[in-house]
Amino acid sequence: MNNLHHYIESIRQGESYFSFERKSNIIAYMLAAIHFITCIIFALIPLITLSIINGCFGVFYVTIVRNLIKQHKYTTALYISLLEVLLISFFETFCLGLTSGFILYNISMISAIFYFTFVMDNFKKKEIIPLVFSLFCVASYCISYLLMQVMEPVYLLEESHWPNILHIFNALVTFAFLILFSFLFIWEIKANQGKLASQNKQLHEIAHKDPLTRLMNRRNMNQILQQEMDQLKSTGKRFSLILGDIDDFKKVNDTYGHDVGDYVLVTVSEIISNSVREGDAVCRWGGEEILILVHDPLGPAANAAERIRKNIADYHFHYEGHDINVTMTFGVSESIPGYRLDALVQQADEHLYTGKKSGKNIVVFQTSTNTIS
Ligand code: GH3
Ligand code: MG
Ligand code: MG
Repeated sequence: MNNLHHYIESIRQGESYFSFERKSNIIAYMLAAIHFITCIIFALIPLITLSIINGCFGVFYVTIVRNLIKQHKYTTALYISLLEVLLISFFETFCLGLTSGFILYNISMISAIFYFTFVMDNFKKKEIIPLVFSLFCVASYCISYLLMQVMEPVYLLEESHWPNILHIFNALVTFAFLILFSFLFIWEIKANQGKLASQNKQLHEIAHKDPLTRLMNRRNMNQILQQEMDQLKSTGKRFSLILGDIDDFKKVNDTYGHDVGDYVLVTVSEIISNSVREGDAVCRWGGEEILILVHDPLGPAANAAERIRKNIADYHFHYEGHDINVTMTFGVSESIPGYRLDALVQQADEHLYTGKKSGKNIVVFQTSTNTIS
């Protein structure tokens, strides 16, 4: 179970091709750039106090916020950035009026908070926080708007083209942020879907395949056998089982070591997989026992088993300087309507046992007189 968890975790981590730190840094730089551009615009108007304030906030993003990101204090970085944008939007609307467009920043913040709470793992109440913050943005927008209906802005720029320039600039920034966070959202969802698909694939392999031989495992084979039995009942379509067991495998392990034993097991599995037809199923039934399901009656199934037996006996097994003699014994049984699945497997096992007693490296089907070798 621990292994499985570690496995899944490593897949998860290996997928981050564009880290969250990098994305956060880019957004911090963008916020700094907006403040520096606003600083220049205010210097040109000239509104020196506002220019200095914006310049300071620009520096604040490239130093303090970036430092927080570097220390992975993403939540703090997010909260102070959102607070700064809300306050400066309110303050600059108060200073320059609604036409300056600073009020629009309240809108762009909503997509940002939804995005960050979605991607940040340590955020607990993922639905509540962005909703509460969005309400703050709505309140801030309405209060700023109503306030500017009853009072004059601190600085009046009516006679110049600066209100239009500021409005267009702030509208462009707002749209840019809305588009950016919508795009990042889709990207994140797509990346998660890709990650899930590959995790599902790996989990499917773990659940259905034997890790050493890559053959299907016993559980998976049981499901397939059950389906075949159901089909046998409903359509009468027969199939056969071939149960194979490596001869004197213990001796291979004892003589050459476990690694050589594993090599033999893997190679035998490959030979068998390559010897059956598409649609037939090969599974690691037990330690060095392999169960094969073929969609044939007994005679052709016994011939298929004989072909496999020969392919293994003729194969030159060679591992780290050792030549290993490998043979396999097979028992074959055919499905009969009314028979139970375990009886069918047991019959193949009994034939296999007969083959072992008859000297091994042999295919046995039906009775002891029906053998091929
Ligand atoms: P027989 O011809 O009667 O089948 O004799 P055998 O030695 O093959 O049979 P036995 O059941 O005595 O030994 C099977 C051996 O298979 C014992 C076990 O250590 C070994 N084995 C089971 N699984 C693995 C595996 O994954 N890797 C390796 N290397 N050996 C395995
Ligand atoms: Mg054996
Ligand atoms: Mg065995």
